[in-house]
Amino acid sequence: KLFKDLYQGLLSQKDQVKVLVNTYFGDVRDVYQELTDLAIDGIGLDFIEGKKSQELVEHYGFPKDKTLFLGLVNGKNIWRNNYQSSLALIKDLKSQGIDLVLSTSCSLLHVPYSLENESALPEKYQKHFAFAEEKLGELNDLSQLIDTDYHHDPRFQENQALFTDRPDSYDPKVQERLAAIPKTAYQRSVPFDEREKAQKAFFNLPLFPTTTIGSFPQTKEVKLKRKAFKNGEISQADYQNFLKKKIKDCVQLQEELGLDVLVHGEFERNDMVEYFGEQLNGVLFTEKAWVQSYGTRCVKPPIIWGDVSRAQSMTVSWSVYAQSLTKKPMKGMLTGPVTILNWSFPREDISVKDSTLQLALAIRDEVLDLEANGIRIIQVDEAALREKLPLRQSDWYTEYLDWAIPAFRLVHSGCHKETQIHTHMCYSEFTDIIPAIDAMDADVITFEASRSNLEILDSLKENHFTTEVGPGVYDIHSPRIPSVSEIKEALDKMLQKVKPEKLWVNPDCGLKTRGEKETQASLKHLVQATKELRHENQGIV
Ligand code: GLN
Ligand code: ZN
Repeated sequence: KLFKDLYQGLLSQKDQVKVLVNTYFGDVRDVYQELTDLAIDGIGLDFIEGKKSQELVEHYGFPKDKTLFLGLVNGKNIWRNNYQSSLALIKDLKSQGIDLVLSTSCSLLHVPYSLENESALPEKYQKHFAFAEEKLGELNDLSQLIDTDYHHDPRFQENQALFTDRPDSYDPKVQERLAAIPKTAYQRSVPFDEREKAQKAFFNLPLFPTTTIGSFPQTKEVKLKRKAFKNGEISQADYQNFLKKKIKDCVQLQEELGLDVLVHGEFERNDMVEYFGEQLNGVLFTEKAWVQSYGTRCVKPPIIWGDVSRAQSMTVSWSVYAQSLTKKPMKGMLTGPVTILNWSFPREDISVKDSTLQLALAIRDEVLDLEANGIRIIQVDEAALREKLPLRQSDWYTEYLDWAIPAFRLVHSGCHKETQIHTHMCYSEFTDIIPAIDAMDADVITFEASRSNLEILDSLKENHFTTEVGPGVYDIHSPRIPSVSEIKEALDKMLQKVKPEKLWVNPDCGLKTRGEKETQASLKHLVQATKELRHENQGIV
């Protein structure tokens, strides 16, 4: 009703101007008739993610006095459009007498600008991609081809050849492994309660263990060295020695601060997804295919080209080196399969579910490798878990969470009961997917909470959540240094909602965007506040 009222009001003033209402990221099954009844001139429908768009048009018809802006070139992914199916769709709609404008399924903000400057990507791969500029060319091709006998047109023939020729994409070993995953591999054999007991005995951590989310400040020095290494200005050995020195200093700093579970600092990583993508089989990288991630930040998403597997260990040597420098537990740091997939350009020739499971097997190999090498606390970040949730809540589980969560469990199900699996999430609200988060079956979960007034803790309580939690005690998105009393206050509030033996103390995200000075001061305050809390809670557990 609100929709109708709003639009009728808006349109009542319309005189000379034509109005197009463009929709995207799915179909409009709930409002199709209301939308087509409006006194507008054009309606944009998404025929890529809108699974029911074609059905809606066929079933209810499309008004003869309006133009359909047909979103048939994918605005979110980077693969070439399949002309055969697009032309068939256009023909079908034309035969119904519908007036058409050919368009992309959504704005082109989600894809890189142009392929023109990708000089390193071999042609055999590159010809399969269409970035923003090339997508405009595709719309042009389609509009010209539709009125011709296109089967003989070289543009059509070249396009069709792309869909039978995907070099280096199929790896029988990966496919066989995927097909043979036993049901039991989706679940740790020892239930959480029992693991929790075993882990408390094994690690013997103090009450309210303190830790960080993984990265330490990526200073100018770190970035310049990485650049120098990439440009061939310093040797691999020099670069490795530099990173080792950074790790050593970072471990020493954490020891001095008195943190309980340490990290190596992630200095070797440019980005939490790119770092893993670069080392996996089946993944391609561009030189300049940047897209906006948020605000002024940009990322260069990996392209999942073929079957994915781990070529060799990706993080083990860094974690093992870091562990050798301290008696305290060193936390291994990995990015989870769902986040890698959600921040990449996924394949379109196999399902995202299968791609995610392949990634999960690769990360599982890394988890077991870390464990075998003495790293007994491993954090698998799923920062972007929520990002591919379908628009309609009714589709959340069936179309996404029902495979995304098992994919996460596949990563850690092979661990011994003492091996403690952490996960970390941020950038979003979680209150409505707590059962799914619970089903990840992690041992500890840290998340962003400092800006959301701790509402999530109420939901955790309501959902009888038993996993140990580390709700971030201060916001790392600003250089501000939180005072001891401020952190202590946050912890006191948390303790009203979380049992003391379940509470971890940590910042609310990685520290890589922060400066060194403010980081040291903030962490010092964090440890001090925790000490006060421990003092007050002496003898409780
Ligand atoms: N481990 C990552 C880091 O500390 C997590 C980043 C994130 O949550 N986005 O940087
Ligand atoms: Zn985070």
